[in-house]
Amino acid sequence: MEYAYDDQNIFAKILRGEIPNKTVYENDHALAFEDIAPQAPVHVLIIPKGAYVSLDHFARDASPEEQVGFMQALAEVCRITDVAQGFRSISNTRVHGVQDVPHYHMHILGGRQLGRMLQG
Ligand code: AMP
Repeated sequence: MEYAYDDQNIFAKILRGEIPNKTVYENDHALAFEDIAPQAPVHVLIIPKGAYVSLDHFARDASPEEQVGFMQALAEVCRITDVAQGFRSISNTRVHGVQDVPHYHMHILGGRQLGRMLQG
């Protein structure tokens, strides 16, 4: 599969510092920031710093260092946001997954009971 990355997407602009963000955590390979339209008391987006369009693209092509860095960021986000009672991670992907921003991101949602996984 071909993955075409558009460097004008909004998260690419955040990574270049062209658009502000509310950073929760950052390391060499990943940035975590608050979602601009939170769906729960905790709603953080974790993105890799590399140019990956989706979770499957990241899983296939990101280096081990990038993948470990991303997971370390996830652990730090969970610590910082104190989601000891649980959370949900979501990676919407392409059309069926209703992905709006074509730069890989993982939503971390928590801070309340989230209900069952899918509505439809
Ligand atoms: P998705 O539908 O999985 O692609 O989700 C994209 C998410 O990005 C949505 O939850 C938006 O609220 C969020 N979002 C869009 N623009 C920004 C921004 N400038 N800063 C933070 N979050 C954003």
